Amino acid sequence: MIIYLRASFHKQLMKKTLLFIFLLTVSIMASAQLTPFELSKSKNVTATYPQVISYYKDLDLKYDQMKMFTYGLTDIGKPLHLVVLSKNKVFDPVQIRQQNKRILLINNGIHPGEPEGIDASMMLVRDLLKKNTIPDDVVICILPLYNIDGSLNRGFSRANQNGPESHGFRGNSKNLDLNRDFIKTDSKNSYSFQEIFNIWQPEVFLDNHTSNGADYQYVMTFIETQRDKLNPILSNFMTKIIEPALYDAMKKKGYEMTPYVDHIGETPDSGLTAFLEIPRFATGYAALHNTIGFIGETHMLKSFDKRVYATYQLMNNLIEITQKNSAQLGSVKKLADEQVKNQKEFALNWEMDDTKFETILFKGYEGKHKASEVSSLSRLYYDRNKPFEKKVKLYNTFKPTVTVEKPIAYIVPQAWQKVIDLLKLNQVEMERLSADTLMEVDMYYIGDYKTSPRPYEGHYIHSAVKVKSQKQQVKFYEGDFLIYTNQNQNRYIVETLEPQAVDSFFAWNFFDSVLGQKEYFSAYVFEDEAAELLKNKPEMKQKLEAAKLKNPDLAKSASAQLNWIYVNSDLYEKTHLRYPVGRLIKN
Ligand SMILES: [Zn+2]
Repeated sequence: MIIYLRASFHKQLMKKTLLFIFLLTVSIMASAQLTPFELSKSKNVTATYPQVISYYKDLDLKYDQMKMFTYGLTDIGKPLHLVVLSKNKVFDPVQIRQQNKRILLINNGIHPGEPEGIDASMMLVRDLLKKNTIPDDVVICILPLYNIDGSLNRGFSRANQNGPESHGFRGNSKNLDLNRDFIKTDSKNSYSFQEIFNIWQPEVFLDNHTSNGADYQYVMTFIETQRDKLNPILSNFMTKIIEPALYDAMKKKGYEMTPYVDHIGETPDSGLTAFLEIPRFATGYAALHNTIGFIGETHMLKSFDKRVYATYQLMNNLIEITQKNSAQLGSVKKLADEQVKNQKEFALNWEMDDTKFETILFKGYEGKHKASEVSSLSRLYYDRNKPFEKKVKLYNTFKPTVTVEKPIAYIVPQAWQKVIDLLKLNQVEMERLSADTLMEVDMYYIGDYKTSPRPYEGHYIHSAVKVKSQKQQVKFYEGDFLIYTNQNQNRYIVETLEPQAVDSFFAWNFFDSVLGQKEYFSAYVFEDEAAELLKNKPEMKQKLEAAKLKNPDLAKSASAQLNWIYVNSDLYEKTHLRYPVGRLIKN
């Protein structure tokens, strides 16, 4: 009995001691606000979506220089969060702009398998709050986790990546790559992102990723929005001021960077090409709004902790550099917005100029070959015992392949609801016609175009679009939308509404119904009518004869000739292949 009592007493004491130790640990953790990454022994762990949100909720309660907002939904039904850090506790973007402060937007987890930014941002936000080091003139906005859907679909799906041990999946719940969805906006995530972007109107944007590809010495590689595609005033400021400062600061912190490693030949020493991020990508979309965009791409083969710390440094340095240049950044942004309002010509697509390159110093590993254990055939490997420093060519000049002169205004019939919704979301100013109106406008006819044979991101995307412009009197209706091209949003307007643009709404199938013919003819009935037409219109007959001489197939085919007459008659529908957005050339 006594023995039993003693044992029970010891057990209880032990339990109490354990409970005490547990509570002490919890309270230390809570006061330090350590992240799941920091708390893990392996440092090979990324926070889950619930951990991320509850972590920021705790910080929000504790500090009044931070607020977490929600904006709209994502495809999985959960709201998109935005964390905002503001030194003077002003959280209204309009007021922030009035106070002449800059806004820096950081996006994390667009590809949840590349989650360094998620964990690094949690640490950085806490540190800025705890050390009271939020900059005076920069309000920092962070999307803690953009692709919530993909992040909840956890496992290990990045075959070649060195951790973390479990992470989210690239596709969202509609299996979309959200970093291709900024124009077509098939996901609610993208819709909510664009709402945030246009409300906050950041001057600088950073998107955090992890690269794949070659092996080399750097932990961090870097993409700046392609400089020839960005407004020249901003481009100049980005390449001359921000970028050199950032490369320099990263080197000083022990994370020397290199431009993103997209190599021409088998290994990087063959030369690198810059990444052309067209508007479907986050930074390409940002460029349409005159926002300087950057992408951090950590190297997949480095350990996860190194990648997280490098991302932390990238963000921290970008914040400091934005603060240091905040006044100048504000004025170049204003100048750029003013310039784009008056800009007449717009580039719609780009290609690399392979005659122009610069030379950079690149720290790589020697690429070698040996026999594969799988196939016995020759395979590539990088010899980490053979690091090198070599001069490597970097091709980073792009030239426009299609340009267009903007009209005075576009007229979008109200039938095209999604187009109108997206223009509104992007804060494009629109007037509505107050009455049914016959207008003289230039209308495009879609000529040749290519269509992807298999779906790409849920679309049979069009490319190499050719158009023919025709002056016409077109009836538009009360409530249709008139969009003048004297706006800050000019690039968004022109590069989505011009069908030849690489990421136009037309390219993304928004207008595919105009590609179908609605009426036709029965040959045996039309024969007599066609003969009558040729009799009454000798000039049409002459044209047909000329066409037959040029085209032997036409000369040989009765049905082709009937079709020729039909298409060249008033019977043929004017709207077939006619792009429905009018271009107002004269007021
Ligand atoms: Zn990525």
